[in-house]
Formats: sequence, C-alpha cells, structure tokens
Amino acid sequence: DRAAIAYFGAGPSALPTDVLEAAAASLVNHGDSGLSLVEQSHRSALSSRILQDARDSFLKLIHASADTHTVLFMAGGGTLQFSAVVYNLFTAWAVKHPELAREGQRGSCEYLVTGGWAAKRLVGAENVNVALDAREVSYASGEARKFGDIPAAGHWQGNLKPARDSAFVYFCDNETVDGVEWPKGSPVDLLGDDPDRIIVADMSSNILSRTFDASKFGVVFAGAQKNIGSTGVTIVLLRNDILALLSSGGALPPQLTPPIPVTPVMMHYPTIANASSLYNTLPIFDVYIASLTLARLLGRDGTGATALELQEAESDEKARKLYAVLDDHPALFHVVPARGVRSRMNICFRLIAPGDETLFVKGAEAKGLLGLKGHRSVGGVRISNYNAVTPESVDRLVEYMREYAKGI
Ligand code: PMP
Repeated sequence: DRAAIAYFGAGPSALPTDVLEAAAASLVNHGDSGLSLVEQSHRSALSSRILQDARDSFLKLIHASADTHTVLFMAGGGTLQFSAVVYNLFTAWAVKHPELAREGQRGSCEYLVTGGWAAKRLVGAENVNVALDAREVSYASGEARKFGDIPAAGHWQGNLKPARDSAFVYFCDNETVDGVEWPKGSPVDLLGDDPDRIIVADMSSNILSRTFDASKFGVVFAGAQKNIGSTGVTIVLLRNDILALLSSGGALPPQLTPPIPVTPVMMHYPTIANASSLYNTLPIFDVYIASLTLARLLGRDGTGATALELQEAESDEKARKLYAVLDDHPALFHVVPARGVRSRMNICFRLIAPGDETLFVKGAEAKGLLGLKGHRSVGGVRISNYNAVTPESVDRLVEYMREYAKGI
C-alpha cells in the first residue's frame, strides 16, 4: 500500500501520488486520444504542448523569462551536461576572444569542488580534451574530512582567474552524496559581479527547493529524477547571450590553432535550442511527468509568497526538524557535514556505535520508512528530503528517530 510508505531515496526519488496517477492513466490512454503518450509522435501538436507547458511552468517558477533564458530538455542526465558545458562554453570563450584564441590561448574551466559530484565533473572536463585547463579552485576541506565543509572565500585552493581568461566557473549547488549544500546565494555572491564571468551550476539535487537569481547564471542544469520528475530528461537553463554567442560560432577564424574541439551534436546547445529540444526523439512521457510536477508546484497557494518561496519554507522546515532530532542525540548520531553547509536535501549522518546503521535502517524499513541507506561510496545514513517528500513523511521519520534514540 503506497500510503503506508514514506520514501527518502536519493534519486530516482519520491513523486507525488496524484502525479503518478495522472501519468499512469496517460500511459494507457492519454487525454482520451485512445493512444498511450509513449505511442505518440514527439513531433505531434500534443507533444509540443507538453514541452511548452513544462518550459513555461519552469520559467515561471524561477521568475525568468524566454526573453533572457532558453530552457532545453535533453537526455543523458546530469552526466551528459558535465561534458556539454565544457564543449559549449569552451567554444563560447573562443568566439568571444578570437584574438586570444588565435594565439592558441584557451579559456580556463574552473571548478569549485565541494564533493563527489563536482569532482566527477572535473574528471568529465579532463575527458573531453586533456589539453583543457581544468583545475580545482577549492577542494573543500579535502579527502580526510570527506568534503565536510566549504572554506570561506580567500581560503580556497588557488585563485580564480580574471574573468577574461576564464571560460566558466562551475559548482555543484548541492552535493547529493556528501550532504553538502552551498549556502543560499553562494558562491555567486563571492564571485563578484563581473558580467563576463560565466557561472555554471549543477542543481540536480536541489533545484526548485529554493529561489535563485537566474540572471547570475550562464548555465544551470538538473536531471529531472529528484525534484522535477522521472529519470530520462534533464532541464538545462541557458542564458540567451551565451546561446547567441554559440550560434554565431559557426564561422570561427580558420587560423585558430590549436583547433577548438567540435561539440558533438547531441550536446550542442544551439542545435538543441533551434529544434526546440526535438532534434531527436525526446522521451515526451518523462517531460509530461515533469510538466505535471511543475504545474502542481506552481499551483501552490499562499498569500504574498510565490510558489517557490512556499516550497523553500517547507523544505527548510522539514530539514530543520530532521537536523534537530540528530542534534538532540549527539551520543548516538553524528552529522557529517559542518553546520553552515548542511544540505537541506540530503541529510547525511552516521550512527556512532558500530553496527547501528544496519539496525537503524532495518528498523525504519519495518515501519515503511524506505530509502535511507547512505551512498555506497561513503556509507552511513542519508535522508533525502526532496520536494515530494511530504511534511507528514518527515514527521513519521522524526518520530521513529526519537523512538530509536529512547530505546538505546
Ligand atoms: N549531479 C548531481 C548533483 C547528482 O546527484 C547526480 C546523480 N545523482 C548527477 C549529477 C548525475 O546525474 P545522472 O545520473 O542523471 O547523469
């Protein structure tokens, strides 16, 4: 019985039951068309409308407009974006600085590494082309502390390059495995206001859980399978000035040495944008699930607050309750990340006594509280507190944790 289960998996993760019910109906007979949505052409009017709805809802939620931003739906997950960002922005830099590119210079790809996903991203950059000047600006607090903290600006390893020499600065807004989240507004506030500096964020695991200023970002991407919908589509938010730069990049100076790597077509943002995300067969069913979730979020009602502000308040409150019970029992639980960078989305902690983690997770499962095992690379317990995890589910888990603590 679905109602008996509270699911805290890290991704794919919980989705609202009414969204799943609507999607289930559509899987058999979409909108009384007599066809399943998975049987419909991705180029049908119906599919275009679904795409348009999802795009419009997303832009509305983040208070951005099609005048300034382009929304792309792409396959390949966050992982494809690891490379797509490098190819596209590396090209954009060369288009913007033809005189430097002609001299053989390349824009640096700069990474603020605060956890496993940003680190993986760094590997992605190196794989694109070994000649890339990919470098880590900050290895948070290093391996020994397992990415438990983010040092203050000025204490990062290495300095950022001047904006002119930088293709982009990249960060992962929320580290899903390590449970480390950049405080709201950071590091954008620390990077200065130079409009030439392109900021890229992987928001796969915290998008739409708090407001952000879209104008500050060149590219934001997020796999849908945590806060947006099902696995299969990734939302890419691209600032239009960068798209324009890339679209004009077809005729790069031929004397460019060494030649810049050509972006593979499935990663080429202008190609995907010109085709309205339908360059190839996009999984429209996954876009449909996303559109239902986005519309549902947009429909949140509150006086004087936007839908996203309401969601943010709810996410913060759920996280506050979970950390409160952990902090109340320091002899039992140990929260891994430092207080100032604790993720609201992935609450990662250890049980201090050996063997207790298995007991804790098993006890939770017996009560229908699922998906709590920490990532295989770090162990421990991880509570994922995404948008579809209801306050009631969190209350049930908090109650279990208090009972568990009492029983020891
Ligand atoms: N970035 C983050 C922050 C993630 O949590 C994940 C996956 N959990 C990824 C990127 C990779 O996403 P995908 O598996 O969709 O490629």
